[in-house]
Amino acid sequence: MTWRVGVLGATGAVGQKMIQHLAGHPWFRVTEVAASERSAQKSYAKAARWMQESEIPSDVADLEVKHAEPGLDCDFVLSALDSSVAGHIEEDFARAGYPVISNSRNHRMDDDVPLVIPEVNPDHLNLVHWQKERRGYTTGYIVTNPNCSTVGLAMALKPLDDAFGVIEVFVVTMQALSGAGYPGVPSLDALENVIPYISGEEEKMQTEPRKILGRLAGHCVEFAGMKLSAQCNRVPVLDGHLESVTVRLKRKASAADVREALSGFTGEPQRLGLPSAPKRPILVTEAADRPQPRRDRDAGNGMSVTVGRIRPCDIADFKFAVLVHNTVRGAAGAAILNAELLADRGLLPHRDRVEDGVVAGGQV
Ligand code: NAP
Repeated sequence: MTWRVGVLGATGAVGQKMIQHLAGHPWFRVTEVAASERSAQKSYAKAARWMQESEIPSDVADLEVKHAEPGLDCDFVLSALDSSVAGHIEEDFARAGYPVISNSRNHRMDDDVPLVIPEVNPDHLNLVHWQKERRGYTTGYIVTNPNCSTVGLAMALKPLDDAFGVIEVFVVTMQALSGAGYPGVPSLDALENVIPYISGEEEKMQTEPRKILGRLAGHCVEFAGMKLSAQCNRVPVLDGHLESVTVRLKRKASAADVREALSGFTGEPQRLGLPSAPKRPILVTEAADRPQPRRDRDAGNGMSVTVGRIRPCDIADFKFAVLVHNTVRGAAGAAILNAELLADRGLLPHRDRVEDGVVAGGQV
């Protein structure tokens, strides 16, 4: 069984990673690409400033870039739209019956929208039933994945919270340039420099993990009670966000306990054998100087988070380093894995084919 996928924001940094990771996917086939007025009506190869190591997949290169509006010939859309426009465009698609699986921040904190990491809180997907009922959507809905730094942090916190309870988290990030999209940070600001500010990032890191690690209670998520404090920096690295994390725990644990909880972590994608699931969602390294962006970001095809330097802390309980590939596990891969989980749960219906804007029985 295959699904036809439309990629919104297909020409950007995250959209390109989606196209790259969907090449040869066993379940999903890209049939539509959409972006802004600037790109519309050009071939994808002409419109996208392709930045990936592999070539543009041949079945996508010649697709015509469409306007990001309903009427696309696909079963669902992955959204990598700029956040200045994602909010209303995603709603338009959901209202028109398309499941929307989004990277953008716009709907993450809506109380009827699941904010999901499949290994951490797959049960939150049940919110889509309430969302459809509440908003009057038919087959459409919106599901989101977290901010790129939040994904790595929340994945590392989950096994610790389950085993020992996490009370407080201090995190300092060193975030890659690709996290700002393309063209992103001007080279004269980025090179030989560190910028101790990323607009809105600290707020996202302080709130999103509390929703993800929260408990689904009826029609809403009760946020986890832990307190978080984040400081975010932009560093001259291409891909891979490194995070220095300090945690205070509710119950006593040894460094060996913490290591064991992290390295033994596994979730529903692994149990189900979803196509994009890494064998091990968290890899623990014993090397004194790892994880490093250049050497560790591609672990598990970019889908594994690497944790290292686990050690006691004199002020809180433990400190460690977390590395997440920001455009893969932090964005494109996160959305694709969410789509795979939705497909497995029977939440991705097949839509009628659209030809020249006409669907069986009428105009779309
Ligand atoms: P980007 O490189 O700037 O790409 C933005 C995309 O949005 C492009 O395809 C662009 O099309 C399209 N777009 C812009 N204005 C539009 C409009 N008016 N109508 C339709 N399409 C429009 O950004 P990105 O880094 O890929 O990020 C995409 C989204 O994912 C953002 O919401 C971002 O916050 C989120 N995100 C990014 C990362 C990351 O690591 N980069 C991680 C997690 C989440 P044109 O090329 O035609 O202008």
